[in-house]
Amino acid sequence: MASPIPTHHKAVVYDKPGEISTRIETVETPAPGAGQVLVHLTHSGVCSSDHGIMTNQWTHLPPTPAGQVGGHEGVGIIAAFGAGAEAAAAAGGLKLGDRVGIKWIASICGACIACLAGRDAMCPAAQVSGFYLPGTFQQYVLAPANYVTPIPEGVPSDLAAPLLCGGVTVYAALKKSRAQPGDHVVISGAGGGLGHLAVQIASRGMGFRVIGIDSGEKEEFVRSLGAEAFFDMTKYSRDQAGSDKLAEDVKAATLRGVGAASVIVCAGSNPAYGQALGFLGFGGTLVCVGLPEGAPVPIAGAFPGNLVGRELAIIGSAVGNRKEAIETLDLAAREVVKTHFVLEPMSKLTDVFERMGRMELQGRVVLDLSREY
Ligand code: NAD
Ligand code: ZN
Ligand code: ZN
Repeated sequence: MASPIPTHHKAVVYDKPGEISTRIETVETPAPGAGQVLVHLTHSGVCSSDHGIMTNQWTHLPPTPAGQVGGHEGVGIIAAFGAGAEAAAAAGGLKLGDRVGIKWIASICGACIACLAGRDAMCPAAQVSGFYLPGTFQQYVLAPANYVTPIPEGVPSDLAAPLLCGGVTVYAALKKSRAQPGDHVVISGAGGGLGHLAVQIASRGMGFRVIGIDSGEKEEFVRSLGAEAFFDMTKYSRDQAGSDKLAEDVKAATLRGVGAASVIVCAGSNPAYGQALGFLGFGGTLVCVGLPEGAPVPIAGAFPGNLVGRELAIIGSAVGNRKEAIETLDLAAREVVKTHFVLEPMSKLTDVFERMGRMELQGRVVLDLSREY
């Protein structure tokens, strides 16, 4: 059950946005407003998008304010209700003490056409957890009672946390991929936070034949998750010749060498995008998920003749909606997808971001928010 609510709690903030730097601070625990729940967070995943926001490397966004509490893959228990929130929570089957998840999108208006269409990330009034709104790298957070995601029984909170962004994002992206069961789907960045969930959901959850791409030391890991083929991107040069050779090898791994039905680019990497169209067979779909940091670079090879001649599609996919989040957690409840993660205390966040920047992470890192050190 919910424990007494403190007046203050610990939070990890970006103390020098633009650099990899975080600091633990003591902040006031807010009281929930109308329609809000106060969530006592126990775990938060660390997503590469937090890295992009902390370092101000996404040039299309305004700069991150100093003191920002980041994080958007939170799990905790409902500790208190604001006015009217108990009824709103009950409508979603939730009561005091229940476990809930916080997603990248923190709240939506619920009334615009995008919201009505279930395209939450397109809502002009959408707020983002951990960007101009306190996120989940802290022990307590506010959230709308009707926007938190119930965590199914039997799914541990640490395992659940990365599903709230990474999991739902790749689930929604795979659903948009136009691939059919039995088709080959390439997961680029297959050993990372998003990628390792995508490999499992694609192969075990949706019946796709997965080809993984990442650096060689992640091969065994990626194959163990359900990939039937793997390519080490470091073995191919980053020029056109390297891309052509990788495309040739990927295609050779597909049925009759025709190419993949879809590529989900889960790596925030321009070279990964530059190679992706080459993996596709006719009628294939490139699903853009990863967000490269730095100056924007167009997708190499995306010229009309290439798209027309092979009837290719390029689409973007931004996180997922509440229903997709529930479906993703259900995949975990049925053990179709299992997060592979390392638990770290709050004080390790800077170190985690440094390792992430060097592409050393395999699976996800989850912060244990009950531990400062
Ligand atoms: P991560 O660092 O855990 O994983 C990225 C993986 O890509 C790593 O395993 C890395 O080795 C691999 N990689 C790097 N370059 C590659 C290349 N050229 N080819 C193949 N693999 C390569 O990061 P993450 O947390 O999984 O996030 C991945 C990306 O997705 C980030 O850009 C993040 O901002 C973005 N993202 C997008 C959405 C969305 O809604 N579209 C949601 C969450 C995250
Ligand atoms: Zn994320
Ligand atoms: Zn809206």
